[in-house]
Amino acid sequence: MKKYKCEKCNSETVRVVREYSIVTESVKQVSYSCDNNTETEMEKRFTKKDSYCDWGVLNEDHTIAWLKKDMTGTKEEIPEIGLNSECIEIEKKGAVTRNIWSDIDKESEEYYVYCEGCGRDIEFGWSNPDGTGLIWPVEWDDFDFSSCYPEARYITKWKNREWV
Ligand SMILES: [Zn+2]
Repeated sequence: MKKYKCEKCNSETVRVVREYSIVTESVKQVSYSCDNNTETEMEKRFTKKDSYCDWGVLNEDHTIAWLKKDMTGTKEEIPEIGLNSECIEIEKKGAVTRNIWSDIDKESEEYYVYCEGCGRDIEFGWSNPDGTGLIWPVEWDDFDFSSCYPEARYITKWKNREWV
């Protein structure tokens, strides 16, 4: 006996998608020439964002069987300069006196659960209060709202039903 059967398409498979990005901030010490023509040394910041998408299917025991990792990957480099527009980066040789690079990684991730057959969004909860652990789809036979915690996007819906 399968735990899930879609009312619309009869699919018995649930797909899990994990989207996440890794942001890397780098700081470089650069020399600039500003309005009054004095040389000033300031920080130049760079942000690099790598986006990924992994997908798999949800096993009967509520764990994920990953099928494809890093389905899409994009990179963008956004230079940020915290200077007024009158400042010009000095290009001349020897202007950059020192380079200090510091990288900070911030990872954010979102999980989505879909019906494999018709692509419908399926509501789900987690076994842990911090949105980790096992995935409990609302439409599965063994779903019990009192034994799991809502995915952050569904908290309002669950509150309205007095599930939390
Ligand atoms: Zn379906």
